Amino acid sequence: MPARVILGVAHARREIVEVCRRLYDRGLIAGQDGNVSVRIKEDRILVTPAGLSKVDVRASDLVELQLEHEHEKSSKGKGQESSEVEVHFAAYAIRPDIRAVVHAHPPVATGFSVAGETVEHPMLAELKYGVGTLPLVPYAQPGSRALAELAAESLRSYDVVLLQYHGAVTVGPSLMVAHQRMESLEHAACILLAARQVKGRANR
Ligand SMILES: [Zn+2]
Repeated sequence: MPARVILGVAHARREIVEVCRRLYDRGLIAGQDGNVSVRIKEDRILVTPAGLSKVDVRASDLVELQLEHEHEKSSKGKGQESSEVEVHFAAYAIRPDIRAVVHAHPPVATGFSVAGETVEHPMLAELKYGVGTLPLVPYAQPGSRALAELAAESLRSYDVVLLQYHGAVTVGPSLMVAHQRMESLEHAACILLAARQVKGRANR
């Protein structure tokens, strides 16, 4: 079912700024990492700009882009859109039900991806209820069309995906849900890492 646009653009701008601050405060991104977008109409999104730390992003910095004809993007806003916006375009194209996309580099979950693993455990509540199962998307150059296509292929069936050697992408029916999925992913990864360390010590 296509995503309904329920909230106004001003509200979406405030929510993006708030989520950028939370991502930064909780260590899910560093420097200029990551990007956040919200679908404000069936065919338009608001996305974070390139070149700014997310903690410095203000509502007026956000860039508005047309989803159709993505290679001839018509944009509004004073910033240049994030270089990784292709993943967002691909996600919205393949999932008409979603309203938001969050991309971050959560350090522990990304560590699993660097080790060639996904974050999974059948009994862990964070994963079971907050994230679900998630695939590991094979590596492709950040910002490339190839990465967008690989990520979108997985997002067709999952709300959270890990990008090998890179980070994670979460989607949702609202920005807050997409953000919570990112937080839960990292929290689950921290728990699983702690469990391995405890087990390692016990086996010494
Ligand atoms: Zn990235």
